[in-house]
Amino acid sequence: DLGTANTLIYVKGVGVVVDEPTLLAIQKSDRSIFTYGEEAKKLVGRVPDSIELVKPLRDGVISEIEYAEELVKTLLSKAIGRSYSRPRIIICVPNGVTSVEQRSIETAAHATGASEVFTIEEPMAAAIGANLQIFEPFGNMVIDIGGGTTEIAVISMGDVVNANSVRVGGEDMTDKLIEWLRSEHAMLVDEGIAESLKHAVGSAYQYDKEPQVTVTGRDIVKGVPKQVLLEASDVRNALTPVVNEIIEAVRISLSQTPPALVSDIDKYGAWLTGGGSMLKQLDRKIAEELGIPINMTEDPLSTVVVGSGICLERFEDYKSVLKSSDK
Ligand code: ADP
Ligand code: MG
Repeated sequence: DLGTANTLIYVKGVGVVVDEPTLLAIQKSDRSIFTYGEEAKKLVGRVPDSIELVKPLRDGVISEIEYAEELVKTLLSKAIGRSYSRPRIIICVPNGVTSVEQRSIETAAHATGASEVFTIEEPMAAAIGANLQIFEPFGNMVIDIGGGTTEIAVISMGDVVNANSVRVGGEDMTDKLIEWLRSEHAMLVDEGIAESLKHAVGSAYQYDKEPQVTVTGRDIVKGVPKQVLLEASDVRNALTPVVNEIIEAVRISLSQTPPALVSDIDKYGAWLTGGGSMLKQLDRKIAEELGIPINMTEDPLSTVVVGSGICLERFEDYKSVLKSSDK
Protein backbone atom coordinates (compact mmCIF):
# COMPACT_ATOMS: atom_id res chain seq x y z
CA ASP A 1 0.00 0.00 0.00
CA LEU A 2 1.86 2.98 -1.35
CA GLY A 3 0.07 5.79 0.49
CA THR A 4 0.68 9.52 0.46
CA ALA A 5 1.61 9.40 4.15
CA ASN A 6 2.54 5.78 4.87
CA THR A 7 3.72 2.77 2.91
CA LEU A 8 2.90 -0.71 4.18
CA ILE A 9 3.91 -4.12 2.90
CA TYR A 10 2.18 -7.41 3.68
CA VAL A 11 3.89 -10.73 3.06
CA LYS A 12 1.71 -13.77 2.42
CA GLY A 13 1.56 -16.07 5.42
CA VAL A 14 3.43 -13.56 7.56
CA GLY A 15 1.44 -10.31 7.76
CA VAL A 16 2.50 -6.66 7.75
CA VAL A 17 6.32 -6.49 7.67
CA VAL A 18 6.92 -2.88 6.59
CA ASP A 19 5.11 0.20 7.89
CA GLU A 20 7.02 3.40 7.17
CA PRO A 21 6.23 7.02 6.38
CA THR A 22 6.34 7.70 2.61
CA LEU A 23 9.21 10.08 3.09
CA LEU A 24 12.83 10.39 1.98
CA ALA A 25 15.70 12.57 3.17
CA ILE A 26 17.80 13.49 0.14
CA GLN A 27 21.39 14.69 0.15
CA LYS A 28 21.17 17.76 -2.07
CA SER A 29 24.76 17.61 -3.34
CA ASP A 30 24.38 14.37 -5.27
CA ARG A 31 20.64 13.68 -4.89
CA SER A 32 21.39 10.42 -3.08
CA ILE A 33 19.16 8.99 -0.35
CA PHE A 34 20.38 9.98 3.11
CA THR A 35 17.64 8.03 4.86
CA TYR A 36 13.95 7.14 4.47
CA GLY A 37 10.76 6.28 6.34
CA GLU A 38 10.65 6.48 10.13
CA GLU A 39 14.27 7.69 10.30
CA ALA A 40 13.50 10.50 7.85
CA LYS A 41 10.39 11.49 9.80
CA LYS A 42 12.53 12.07 12.89
CA LEU A 43 14.35 14.74 10.88
CA VAL A 44 11.28 16.84 10.05
CA GLY A 45 12.02 20.43 11.03
CA ARG A 46 15.61 19.56 11.98
CA VAL A 47 17.58 19.25 8.74
CA PRO A 48 20.39 21.52 7.57
CA ASP A 49 20.30 23.14 4.13
CA SER A 50 22.27 20.27 2.62
CA ILE A 51 19.38 17.84 3.14
CA GLU A 52 15.92 17.97 1.65
CA LEU A 53 12.88 16.02 2.85
CA VAL A 54 10.83 14.68 -0.04
CA LYS A 55 7.31 13.28 0.13
CA PRO A 56 7.23 11.58 -3.25
CA LEU A 57 3.47 10.97 -3.22
CA ARG A 58 2.37 14.29 -1.81
CA ASP A 59 -1.30 14.99 -2.60
CA GLY A 60 -1.80 11.42 -3.65
CA VAL A 61 -0.04 11.80 -6.95
CA ILE A 62 3.55 10.92 -7.52
CA SER A 63 5.28 14.24 -7.72
CA GLU A 64 8.82 12.90 -7.68
CA ILE A 65 8.74 9.76 -9.77
CA GLU A 66 12.35 8.69 -9.30
CA TYR A 67 12.18 8.98 -5.54
CA ALA A 68 8.92 7.07 -5.39
CA GLU A 69 10.52 4.36 -7.50
CA GLU A 70 13.60 4.33 -5.28
CA LEU A 71 11.49 4.07 -2.12
CA VAL A 72 9.45 1.19 -3.55
CA LYS A 73 12.65 -0.69 -4.41
CA THR A 74 14.20 -0.09 -1.00
CA LEU A 75 11.10 -1.10 0.96
CA LEU A 76 10.38 -4.12 -1.21
CA SER A 77 13.87 -5.47 -0.80
CA LYS A 78 13.58 -4.87 2.94
CA ALA A 79 10.30 -6.84 2.97
CA ILE A 80 11.31 -9.60 0.66
CA GLY A 81 14.98 -9.93 1.56
CA ARG A 82 16.58 -13.08 0.27
CA SER A 83 13.86 -15.36 1.51
CA TYR A 84 11.60 -15.13 -1.52
CA SER A 85 12.57 -15.57 -5.10
CA ARG A 86 10.33 -14.26 -7.83
CA PRO A 87 7.41 -13.17 -5.63
CA ARG A 88 3.96 -12.21 -6.81
CA ILE A 89 3.38 -8.54 -5.99
CA ILE A 90 0.10 -6.66 -5.66
CA ILE A 91 0.45 -2.88 -5.55
CA CYS A 92 -2.12 -0.46 -4.36
CA VAL A 93 -1.73 3.18 -5.35
CA PRO A 94 -4.00 6.21 -4.90
CA ASN A 95 -6.54 6.92 -7.62
CA GLY A 96 -4.95 10.19 -8.64
CA VAL A 97 -1.77 8.77 -10.16
CA THR A 98 -1.24 9.18 -13.89
CA SER A 99 -0.59 6.17 -16.08
CA VAL A 100 3.06 7.20 -16.45
CA GLU A 101 3.48 7.30 -12.67
CA GLN A 102 1.63 4.03 -12.21
CA ARG A 103 3.88 2.48 -14.82
CA SER A 104 7.04 3.63 -13.09
CA ILE A 105 5.92 2.04 -9.81
CA GLU A 106 5.08 -1.20 -11.59
CA THR A 107 8.51 -1.11 -13.24
CA ALA A 108 10.13 -0.72 -9.82
CA ALA A 109 8.21 -3.79 -8.62
CA HIS A 110 9.22 -5.81 -11.69
CA ALA A 111 12.83 -4.73 -11.10
CA THR A 112 12.87 -6.51 -7.73
CA GLY A 113 12.53 -9.80 -9.58
CA ALA A 114 8.78 -10.25 -9.25
CA SER A 115 7.26 -13.10 -11.23
CA GLU A 116 3.96 -11.27 -11.55
CA VAL A 117 2.85 -7.74 -10.71
CA PHE A 118 -0.79 -6.77 -10.17
CA THR A 119 -2.50 -3.56 -9.19
CA ILE A 120 -5.64 -3.14 -7.14
CA GLU A 121 -7.81 -0.06 -6.72
CA GLU A 122 -7.39 1.40 -3.24
CA PRO A 123 -11.07 1.48 -2.19
CA MET A 124 -11.44 -2.11 -3.39
CA ALA A 125 -8.51 -3.17 -1.20
CA ALA A 126 -10.01 -1.20 1.70
CA ALA A 127 -13.38 -2.91 1.27
CA ILE A 128 -11.76 -6.35 1.25
CA GLY A 129 -9.65 -5.41 4.28
CA ALA A 130 -12.82 -4.33 6.08
CA ASN A 131 -14.34 -7.77 5.36
CA LEU A 132 -17.17 -6.34 3.28
CA GLN A 133 -19.16 -8.65 1.01
CA ILE A 134 -17.82 -7.09 -2.16
CA PHE A 135 -19.13 -9.76 -4.54
CA GLU A 136 -22.76 -9.38 -3.39
CA PRO A 137 -25.25 -7.17 -5.26
CA PHE A 138 -25.13 -4.72 -2.37
CA GLY A 139 -24.03 -1.14 -1.80
CA ASN A 140 -20.69 -1.19 0.05
CA MET A 141 -19.48 2.36 0.58
CA VAL A 142 -15.87 2.97 1.63
CA ILE A 143 -14.48 6.36 2.66
CA ASP A 144 -10.69 6.24 2.87
CA ILE A 145 -9.15 9.39 4.35
CA GLY A 146 -5.41 9.28 3.74
CA GLY A 147 -2.70 11.89 4.19
CA GLY A 148 -3.23 13.79 0.94
CA THR A 149 -6.39 12.33 -0.55
CA THR A 150 -9.82 11.07 0.39
CA GLU A 151 -11.20 8.32 -1.78
CA ILE A 152 -14.84 7.42 -1.68
CA ALA A 153 -16.18 4.43 -3.57
CA VAL A 154 -19.29 2.33 -3.80
CA ILE A 155 -18.66 -1.31 -4.60
CA SER A 156 -21.17 -3.93 -5.68
CA MET A 157 -20.76 -7.32 -7.37
CA GLY A 158 -16.98 -7.21 -7.27
CA ASP A 159 -16.69 -3.88 -9.05
CA VAL A 160 -16.47 -0.17 -8.30
CA VAL A 161 -19.85 1.33 -9.22
CA ASN A 162 -18.86 4.87 -8.50
CA ALA A 163 -15.67 6.48 -7.20
CA ASN A 164 -14.79 9.99 -6.17
CA SER A 165 -11.39 11.24 -5.09
CA VAL A 166 -10.57 14.62 -3.55
CA ARG A 167 -7.16 16.06 -2.81
CA VAL A 168 -7.72 16.59 0.85
CA GLY A 169 -6.77 14.44 3.84
CA GLY A 170 -5.07 14.28 7.21
CA GLU A 171 -2.07 16.34 6.14
CA ASP A 172 -4.37 19.17 5.12
CA MET A 173 -5.79 19.07 8.65
CA THR A 174 -2.23 19.41 9.98
CA ASP A 175 -1.51 22.27 7.55
CA LYS A 176 -4.69 24.03 8.68
CA LEU A 177 -3.48 23.91 12.27
CA ILE A 178 -0.11 25.40 11.31
CA GLU A 179 -1.90 28.19 9.44
CA TRP A 180 -4.33 28.82 12.28
CA LEU A 181 -1.60 29.02 14.93
CA ARG A 182 0.22 31.52 12.75
CA SER A 183 -2.77 33.76 12.08
CA GLU A 184 -4.59 33.49 15.43
CA HIS A 185 -1.69 33.13 17.84
CA ALA A 186 1.24 34.66 15.91
CA MET A 187 3.10 31.45 16.46
CA LEU A 188 5.18 29.23 14.23
CA VAL A 189 5.18 25.44 14.71
CA ASP A 190 6.51 22.68 12.50
CA GLU A 191 4.55 19.82 11.02
CA GLY A 192 5.49 17.37 13.78
CA ILE A 193 4.10 19.58 16.52
CA ALA A 194 0.93 20.37 14.58
CA GLU A 195 0.39 16.67 13.91
CA SER A 196 0.78 15.77 17.60
CA LEU A 197 -1.67 18.53 18.48
CA LYS A 198 -4.16 17.11 15.97
CA HIS A 199 -3.82 13.60 17.37
CA ALA A 200 -4.05 14.73 20.99
CA VAL A 201 -6.99 17.14 20.90
CA GLY A 202 -8.19 17.46 17.30
CA SER A 203 -11.83 16.55 16.76
CA ALA A 204 -14.74 17.02 14.40
CA TYR A 205 -17.53 17.06 16.98
CA GLN A 206 -17.92 17.93 20.63
CA TYR A 207 -16.92 15.22 23.08
CA ASP A 208 -16.87 14.55 26.82
CA LYS A 209 -14.17 16.05 29.02
CA GLU A 210 -12.49 18.07 26.30
CA PRO A 211 -8.92 18.76 27.40
CA GLN A 212 -6.82 21.88 27.07
CA VAL A 213 -3.34 21.62 25.70
CA THR A 214 -0.22 23.74 25.80
CA VAL A 215 1.65 24.15 22.54
CA THR A 216 5.17 25.47 22.23
CA GLY A 217 6.37 27.23 19.12
CA ARG A 218 8.14 30.38 18.06
CA ASP A 219 6.70 33.84 18.46
CA ILE A 220 6.51 35.25 14.94
CA VAL A 221 6.98 38.83 16.09
CA LYS A 222 9.63 38.45 18.79
CA GLY A 223 11.37 35.39 17.42
CA VAL A 224 11.55 33.78 20.86
CA PRO A 225 9.90 30.57 22.13
CA LYS A 226 6.25 30.97 22.99
CA GLN A 227 3.60 28.85 24.69
CA VAL A 228 -0.15 29.06 24.30
CA LEU A 229 -2.93 27.20 26.05
CA LEU A 230 -5.49 25.90 23.55
CA GLU A 231 -9.05 24.70 24.00
CA ALA A 232 -10.11 21.55 22.13
CA SER A 233 -13.04 23.50 20.70
CA ASP A 234 -10.70 26.07 19.13
CA VAL A 235 -8.68 23.32 17.49
CA ARG A 236 -11.92 21.77 16.24
CA ASN A 237 -13.04 25.07 14.71
CA ALA A 238 -9.72 25.41 12.93
CA LEU A 239 -10.16 21.94 11.40
CA THR A 240 -13.76 22.50 10.31
CA PRO A 241 -13.06 23.66 6.72
CA VAL A 242 -11.13 20.47 5.94
CA VAL A 243 -13.73 18.26 7.60
CA ASN A 244 -16.47 19.99 5.62
CA GLU A 245 -14.65 19.41 2.35
CA ILE A 246 -14.52 15.70 3.08
CA ILE A 247 -18.21 15.60 3.99
CA GLU A 248 -19.09 17.44 0.77
CA ALA A 249 -17.21 14.83 -1.25
CA VAL A 250 -19.16 12.03 0.45
CA ARG A 251 -22.40 13.89 -0.22
CA ILE A 252 -21.54 14.12 -3.92
CA SER A 253 -20.74 10.40 -4.01
CA LEU A 254 -24.09 9.56 -2.46
CA SER A 255 -25.88 11.75 -4.98
CA GLN A 256 -24.18 9.85 -7.82
CA THR A 257 -24.99 6.39 -6.46
CA PRO A 258 -27.99 4.40 -7.79
CA PRO A 259 -30.96 4.55 -5.35
CA ALA A 260 -31.02 0.83 -4.53
CA LEU A 261 -27.40 0.96 -3.40
CA VAL A 262 -28.02 4.19 -1.47
CA SER A 263 -30.77 2.44 0.45
CA ASP A 264 -28.28 -0.31 1.43
CA ILE A 265 -25.86 2.37 2.65
CA ASP A 266 -28.68 4.11 4.50
CA LYS A 267 -29.49 0.86 6.29
CA TYR A 268 -26.05 -0.63 6.96
CA GLY A 269 -23.85 2.44 6.80
CA ALA A 270 -20.62 3.46 5.09
CA TRP A 271 -17.19 2.28 6.25
CA LEU A 272 -14.68 4.90 7.29
CA THR A 273 -10.98 4.06 7.06
CA GLY A 274 -7.49 5.56 6.56
CA GLY A 275 -5.44 7.39 9.19
CA GLY A 276 -7.37 10.63 8.67
CA SER A 277 -10.54 8.89 9.87
CA MET A 278 -8.97 8.62 13.33
CA LEU A 279 -9.69 12.29 13.98
CA LYS A 280 -11.85 12.15 17.10
CA GLN A 281 -15.61 12.16 16.46
CA LEU A 282 -15.26 12.36 12.69
CA ASP A 283 -17.55 9.35 12.30
CA ARG A 284 -20.20 11.04 14.41
CA LYS A 285 -19.91 14.31 12.49
CA ILE A 286 -20.30 12.62 9.09
CA ALA A 287 -23.22 10.52 10.34
CA GLU A 288 -24.94 13.60 11.70
CA GLU A 289 -24.41 15.72 8.58
CA LEU A 290 -25.40 13.09 6.04
CA GLY A 291 -27.90 11.05 8.03
CA ILE A 292 -26.28 7.68 7.33
CA PRO A 293 -24.68 5.28 9.81
CA ILE A 294 -20.89 5.36 9.79
CA ASN A 295 -18.81 2.32 10.76
CA MET A 296 -15.10 2.48 11.54
CA THR A 297 -12.78 -0.26 10.31
CA GLU A 298 -10.82 -2.07 12.98
CA ASP A 299 -7.37 -0.67 12.20
CA PRO A 300 -7.78 2.27 9.80
CA LEU A 301 -4.05 2.59 9.05
CA SER A 302 -3.73 -0.96 7.76
CA THR A 303 -7.12 -1.77 6.22
CA VAL A 304 -5.85 -1.29 2.66
CA VAL A 305 -2.69 -3.38 3.05
CA VAL A 306 -4.62 -6.12 4.86
CA GLY A 307 -7.14 -6.14 1.99
CA SER A 308 -4.31 -6.54 -0.52
CA GLY A 309 -2.92 -9.28 1.73
CA ILE A 310 -6.22 -11.15 1.64
CA CYS A 311 -5.98 -11.05 -2.17
CA LEU A 312 -2.57 -12.77 -1.92
CA GLU A 313 -3.75 -15.34 0.61
CA ARG A 314 -6.87 -16.20 -1.40
CA PHE A 315 -5.57 -15.39 -4.83
CA GLU A 316 -8.03 -17.51 -6.84
CA ASP A 317 -11.04 -16.00 -5.05
CA TYR A 318 -9.93 -12.43 -5.61
CA LYS A 319 -8.13 -12.63 -8.95
CA SER A 320 -11.03 -10.88 -10.67
CA VAL A 321 -10.48 -7.63 -8.75
CA LEU A 322 -6.78 -7.42 -9.69
CA LYS A 323 -5.28 -5.91 -12.81
CA SER A 324 -2.28 -7.65 -14.29
CA SER A 325 0.78 -5.55 -15.19
CA ASP A 326 3.09 -6.69 -17.98
CA LYS A 327 6.83 -6.16 -17.80
P1 ADP B 1 -2.07 7.38 3.25
O1 ADP B 1 -2.88 6.17 2.91
O2 ADP B 1 -2.35 8.54 2.36
O3 ADP B 1 -0.62 7.06 3.36
P2 ADP B 1 -2.82 7.03 6.02
O4 ADP B 1 -4.05 6.21 5.90
O5 ADP B 1 -1.58 6.33 6.44
O6 ADP B 1 -2.55 7.86 4.69
O7 ADP B 1 -3.16 8.22 7.04
C1 ADP B 1 -2.20 9.18 7.35
C2 ADP B 1 -2.88 10.36 8.01
O8 ADP B 1 -3.58 9.94 9.18
C3 ADP B 1 -1.87 11.43 8.47
O9 ADP B 1 -2.28 12.68 7.99
C4 ADP B 1 -1.96 11.34 10.00
O10 ADP B 1 -1.75 12.59 10.63
C5 ADP B 1 -3.40 10.89 10.19
N1 ADP B 1 -3.62 10.28 11.51
C6 ADP B 1 -3.01 9.18 12.03
N2 ADP B 1 -3.43 8.95 13.28
C7 ADP B 1 -4.32 9.94 13.58
C8 ADP B 1 -5.10 10.30 14.74
N3 ADP B 1 -5.05 9.56 15.85
N4 ADP B 1 -5.90 11.39 14.67
C9 ADP B 1 -5.97 12.13 13.55
N5 ADP B 1 -5.26 11.86 12.43
C10 ADP B 1 -4.45 10.78 12.44
MG1 MG C 1 -4.11 4.93 2.10
